[in-house]
Amino acid sequence: MASREFALIDSYFKGKGHQRKDVVLGIGDDCALLAVSDNTLLAVTTDTLVAGVHFPENTPARAIGHKAVAVNLSDLAAMGAEAAWLSLALTLPEADEAWLAEFSAAVVEVCDYYGVTLVGGDTTRGPLSITITAQGKIPTGKQLTRGGAKPGDWLFVTGTLGDAALGLALVQGREQASSDNREYLINRLHYPTPRLAAGHSLRGIASAAIDISDGLAADLGHILKASHCGANLFMERLPLSKALSGTVSQEAAWQLALAGGDDYELLFTVPEAQKGALDTALAHCGVKHNCIGQLRGGEGISFLDHGQTIELDVHGYEHSWS
Ligand code: ADP
Ligand code: MG
Repeated sequence: MASREFALIDSYFKGKGHQRKDVVLGIGDDCALLAVSDNTLLAVTTDTLVAGVHFPENTPARAIGHKAVAVNLSDLAAMGAEAAWLSLALTLPEADEAWLAEFSAAVVEVCDYYGVTLVGGDTTRGPLSITITAQGKIPTGKQLTRGGAKPGDWLFVTGTLGDAALGLALVQGREQASSDNREYLINRLHYPTPRLAAGHSLRGIASAAIDISDGLAADLGHILKASHCGANLFMERLPLSKALSGTVSQEAAWQLALAGGDDYELLFTVPEAQKGALDTALAHCGVKHNCIGQLRGGEGISFLDHGQTIELDVHGYEHSWS
């Protein structure tokens, strides 16, 4: 989401109206956290995908179904929550049975894989749009928020960065790639993997966490703002897939990693004292993690290439509101 949209939410919605005492965390993180009992928090998140805005019009129904669920589960992962329930609000231009069969099969497949149950929703007629609310549980005190990082903490990311943004450029005909690389990169765009097992394993280890939906620079910015810190980013350590490195220059790869959206990897900070526990905790998650920087005092992001500060103009993604 772009800075203009955050300003709108802050002006019109954040902190407005009655504030209940059982809201442990409201607007401003990957999920809201609600105290439903003395020892359990309910994590709640909503994300919408609009045709032509969040995915190209010709995207396969299977990809739309997968992605709509996955991006919501990714927000639960970013809090360290266990995913439990989904609601699906579907706006459809027409009742296309073939499309619905494919879409619903993908939704069901992701639900089965992560042990999540679809418990309700709404169906309306209009331009294609999918809104999902995902809910999950987390033991009170174990939640990972954007706000707990401290200067000196190490910055880590799961998986590789920039693949989905390059996948989108390929789909839109703005870039070319070999057929193997093309397939890999477009799959990374269409079928993101919510890092639920990693998020769960980071409980008690990470000091802050977020999922990368809007590019590394923007989402690291959210951790830094919430934690009142700055960060040094070690550019040579950014994890890039072979498909991405084999398709674009290093400079373009860095831009895609920093400013491209839709990666849905976890970005998290770990205090020095917890660094040893990290490898063991993430060993069984089926995803690699890499140290890509360190938090410091001050504010903002400094870009370092092998220890040397470099100037980088990050071309951020902004929704057009015209
Ligand atoms: P994410 O990228 O993790 O899904 P967003 O950037 O979409 O998060 O949203 C940032 C925060 O603003 C979240 O806490 C979200 O719940 C909240 N938010 C977004 N839109 C609205 C809205 N219309 N009313 C209330 N809260 C909102
Ligand atoms: Mg998020």
